[in-house]
Amino acid sequence: MSTNEEARLSVLRQLNLLDTPPSESFDRITRMASQLFGLPVAAVSLTDRDRQWFKSRVGVDHWEIPRFKACCGEVADTNDVLVVNDLLASDHYCDSPLAESGIRFYAGAPLITYDGYTLGAMCVLGREPRDITDQEINILRDLAAMVMAQIDLQHAVGRIDPVTGLPNYLSYVEDVNDLARDLPGSLRYAISTEIIDLNQANTLQRVMGPAYLDSLSRAAAPVIREVLGEQAKLYHIGPCQFAHIEYGEEPSVLARAERLREALLGISVEDCAPFMLRPVVGVAPFWLGGKQPDAVLRLAHSACRDAREAEQGTGLYSETSDARYLRSFNLIADFREALQASDQLHLAYQPRVDLASGHCVGAEALIRWQHPVLGNVSPAEFIPLVENTSMAKALTDWVMRNAIRQAAIWHREGLTLRVSINIAAANLEEENFTGRLLGYLNSESLTFKAIELELTESSLIGNGRAAREQLDNLMALGIKIAIDDFGTGYSSLSYLQTIPAHVVKIDHSFITNLDRHMRSQTLVSSMITMAHELGYTVVAEGVESAASRSLLFSLGCDEIQGYLIARPMTSDAFTTWLNHFRDCSPARQAQESITR
Ligand code: C2E
Ligand code: MG
Ligand code: MG
Repeated sequence: MSTNEEARLSVLRQLNLLDTPPSESFDRITRMASQLFGLPVAAVSLTDRDRQWFKSRVGVDHWEIPRFKACCGEVADTNDVLVVNDLLASDHYCDSPLAESGIRFYAGAPLITYDGYTLGAMCVLGREPRDITDQEINILRDLAAMVMAQIDLQHAVGRIDPVTGLPNYLSYVEDVNDLARDLPGSLRYAISTEIIDLNQANTLQRVMGPAYLDSLSRAAAPVIREVLGEQAKLYHIGPCQFAHIEYGEEPSVLARAERLREALLGISVEDCAPFMLRPVVGVAPFWLGGKQPDAVLRLAHSACRDAREAEQGTGLYSETSDARYLRSFNLIADFREALQASDQLHLAYQPRVDLASGHCVGAEALIRWQHPVLGNVSPAEFIPLVENTSMAKALTDWVMRNAIRQAAIWHREGLTLRVSINIAAANLEEENFTGRLLGYLNSESLTFKAIELELTESSLIGNGRAAREQLDNLMALGIKIAIDDFGTGYSSLSYLQTIPAHVVKIDHSFITNLDRHMRSQTLVSSMITMAHELGYTVVAEGVESAASRSLLFSLGCDEIQGYLIARPMTSDAFTTWLNHFRDCSPARQAQESITR
C-alpha cells in the first residue's frame, strides 16, 4: 500500500467518523441527492482499507460493502468524479459485487479534505443505465462539498475554543503529534503565554465576576496573533493561557517572546485595572517526538512560573528549577501518605532553658520526616509547602496529638515541661481549632499550662477577623502564645502592642553570631528591653556559644534554646538528656556557669 494511501487512511481515522451512528445532518444531504437525481440509492461512502462504509445511505440496507471493485474506491484513488453509465457495459465493473446486486448506474464525487485527501465519495446509484448532464455533475460536486463542510464542522467541535475561536488544547496535542510524525528530532520551542498570575485566577474571578477571565482571553488573543503574524498557530489552552510552537534561533525566539509580552501589557479591557494584567511568556526548547505534547507544554508552564518568580516578563525553561518544583510537588503529594503511615513522621524535642535558674522549663516539638525514598526531609523545606495546602490542618493536628501525648507522659513521670507546638496561620482560620486542642488536652488529663503555641510574626499579622478571634479565645483560656522567629517578618516593633501573645522568640539569625556582631547586640538589646516593657517573656533561639549565652543573660533575656544546650532529639533521648542535665546542673551551678 502506498504511503499516500496510509496517510489518507490516517486522516480518515482521525476524523472519527467510521462506524459512528447515523446522523441527520448527513442523511439530509443523502435524501436530497436521491431526490435531485430521481435515483433510488444515494450514499456518503467512506473508503476504508478494504471496505466502503456508509456514513449515510438511502435505498440500501447494509452499512458497508467490500472495497473490491467498488466504484467509490476508484473515486478515492483518482480524487475525481466517476460516472459509470452502465456497470454491465463496463469491462471492469460488470462482474463487481455492485453490479451483481442489480446496480447499473453509478455517479460519485470525491469528498476531499483541505489538505487534499479523498475520504470517499458522495454517490448516487440507479438500477437502470443512465446518462448524466454537466449540470448534474456540478450538483453532485456541490453535495460532496456540503458533506465535507459538515465533516469539518463536526471535527471542529471540541477542538475550537468557543471563547476566543482559537484551536484548543486538543488541537494543540494533535498538531504537535502531527509535527513530530513529519519532522521527528527537529528542534522547536513551546511557548506558553499567561495573561495573569494563574494562582490568582480564582480570586480575580470571584472579585470581577465569572466572565472576566473570558473577556481577558478575548482581548489578548488578537494581540498575540498580531505579534505572531503568519509565523505560528495560536492555541487557547485554558483561561488566560495561550500556547504556540516556534522554530528558529533561540535569541530571536526569546526576542519575540519579549515583544509578545510588551504587546500584552497594552491590552485594554473594560474594568481591568492594569495591575491585574501580569502577562508572562515562557519558552521551552524541545525535540519533536522526544516528549509528549502535554509534557512539552508543562515545560513551557514551568518557564512561565520561573519568569513570574523572578519578576521578569519572559523565562527560558530551566531544568534545575523545574527539578526543584517537581520535588516540591512530589513532597506535597507524598506528605499525605506520610500522615497516614506510622513510620515516616516523628517529633523531635529541643529543650528551652531558663537563664536565671538554669532549669529546663520546656521543649519545642519539631516535626521530622523520614521519607521512604528521599530520606530525611527538613521541615524548613516541607512545612512551607504543606502549609499552603489543605493538609495544613492535618499536619498541625498530627503534631498536636503527638506532642500532647508526649507532654502527658512527661507529666506522669513528674517532669513538668511546657511543650511548644508550632502552628500555621491557616490553623487559626479553622473553625474548631480551639475545640480540638482542648479535646486533646482533656483526653490526656492535661491543663492548658502544659503547652504553648508558636506562631510566626507574619502569620499573626496578616490574618483576618476569624483568626484574630480564635487567638483571643486561646489567650482568654490561658494558653500561652509565642511569637516565633521574631525580627524576621514585619519587624515593626509597634505592632507588638496590638498582638495577643505572651512570649517573643528572637530569631536565631540575630543570635547565632551575637558574640561577634555588635550590631546584633544592639538590636537584640533593644528587642529585649522593648518586649519586656510590653510584658513579654523573651526567648533567644539558636544559641550556639557560651559567649552568646552570657551576653543574653546580661541583656536580661529570660530563656534560651539552641545547640549549646542540646540539638532537637527523640522523646526518649530527651528524657535521658533531661535526667543527666538535671543531675549535673543544679540551679546554683547553672547560675554560676551563666554568670561566669
Ligand atoms: P522554628 O520553629 O523556628 O524552630 C527552630 C529551628 O531552629 C529548628 O529547625 C531547630 O532545629 C533550629 N535550631 C535550634 N537550635 C539551633 C541552633 O543553635 N542553631 C541553628 N542554626 N538552628 C537551630 P527545624 O527543626 O529544621 O525546623 C525549621 C522550622 O520548621 C521551624 O522553625 C518551624 O518553623 C518549622 N517547623 C518544625 N516543626 C514544625 C511543626 O511541627 N509544625 C509547624 N507548623 N512548623 C514546624
Ligand atoms: Mg518554633
Ligand atoms: Mg523560630
